[in-house]
Amino acid sequence: MEIQTFTHFDDLDQESKYLVHKARDAAQHAHAPYSRFMVGAALMLEDGTVVTGANFENAAYPSSMCAERVALYAAASQYPEKRITKLAVVAKKKNDKELIPATSCGPCRQVMLEFETNQQNLIEVVMQGDNHAWIKAPSAASLLPFCFTKDNLDIHHK
Ligand SMILES: [Zn+2]
Repeated sequence: MEIQTFTHFDDLDQESKYLVHKARDAAQHAHAPYSRFMVGAALMLEDGTVVTGANFENAAYPSSMCAERVALYAAASQYPEKRITKLAVVAKKKNDKELIPATSCGPCRQVMLEFETNQQNLIEVVMQGDNHAWIKAPSAASLLPFCFTKDNLDIHHK
């Protein structure tokens, strides 16, 4: 399975488009007074339930949290038994309608990978990259080559 890119939003599958819309709605709830970079994430659980998140900045900058991780942690705490199948993330400037390209940061990819590894089920990731092309990654692992997982730690326990 490879990472796919789509020039037009309409080329995405229905489920991805639905999650992108949900992520866009969630971005409205972002608290981003410092960067004015509003990010929304929406993930789908195996039963179709959607959980969203937005970025929450803080005057003490490192206390901020990305939209993806807000959604992932919310899903894990509300629906601990349900697997995550797909996650979409979008960004926009405050008061702008147009989405702007934003791919997940390294720490978010690492957290997605932790969930993917633990649930033993791949998580598709949809986001907007260069030239506004839509990216659909088949898994968190595909976004993090040479990744570090619990398998690396287990070496010391054998
Ligand atoms: Zn992030």
